[in-house]
Amino acid sequence: MKALAATDWTISGNFLLLTSLFFTIVFLRYALLSGLYHKLLFGWLRHVFSHRMLQRRYTPGQMIREIAWSAITSLIFAVSGVLMLILWQKGYTRLYTDVFQYPLWYLPVSLMIYMLIHETYYYWLHRWMHRPDIFRKIHKVHHDSIETSSWTSFSFHPWESILQAVVIPVLLFIIPIHIFVLLALLVLMTLSAIINHAGVEVYPAGFERNPIGKWLIGAVHHDIHHKKFRYNFGLYFTFWDKWMKTESPDFESKFREKTGQTRVGDDIPSGER
Ligand SMILES: [Zn+2]
Ligand SMILES: [Zn+2]
Repeated sequence: MKALAATDWTISGNFLLLTSLFFTIVFLRYALLSGLYHKLLFGWLRHVFSHRMLQRRYTPGQMIREIAWSAITSLIFAVSGVLMLILWQKGYTRLYTDVFQYPLWYLPVSLMIYMLIHETYYYWLHRWMHRPDIFRKIHKVHHDSIETSSWTSFSFHPWESILQAVVIPVLLFIIPIHIFVLLALLVLMTLSAIINHAGVEVYPAGFERNPIGKWLIGAVHHDIHHKKFRYNFGLYFTFWDKWMKTESPDFESKFREKTGQTRVGDDIPSGER
């Protein structure tokens, strides 16, 4: 931490070195978590999750294409990380390293504040990206994956990656956050994206009615977005979709089917199968 704080990262050689290091960390985090999750659900625990699988087949070359886009996304996130570090060094951000600088209860509260603002930003950005002209230029790359897998989680056009990468740095100027809470947020962001794209519902039966579970987005929820386009725009939470009436009317029945609460096709309208 001291070496990070003491080095001048604005010198081009140092900037490139740190960007390479951050890129390696971000890309490996994506590759390891996606790979492990994929292997866990489709390999080691396949017999446990077989009835919870949502996808039928992936298109040829899909995984390679998704990993290539994800590498570019990782590079953009890495540059954003280096810029955040430089701004922190220069004293422009509200990022803090002494855990007692604010009351301890502020640690989880700051995480929640960041997630709620991130959710709001992403929901409305996502709605905007589905305007036909913007969709073609920016968001189509992500939707080229109709049958998603954990490899889809970082597969974005560079413009979409940039739009996603700006929100946390902007918040750092305004809302205090401890460095470890920020790191936890970045890991949660990656995990949530992987869980939502993996193509297997891992949440338990009844989660869609649970007082906490009904506010969380999972694989069935986001899978409907990739297949139907006009529903389920949220990132971590369902509240904007519920309030704006953009949650798919067939989400709950599909969730119940995949979690074994109904027999296959019992109450699924034909449009959602
Ligand atoms: Zn979309
Ligand atoms: Zn997606």
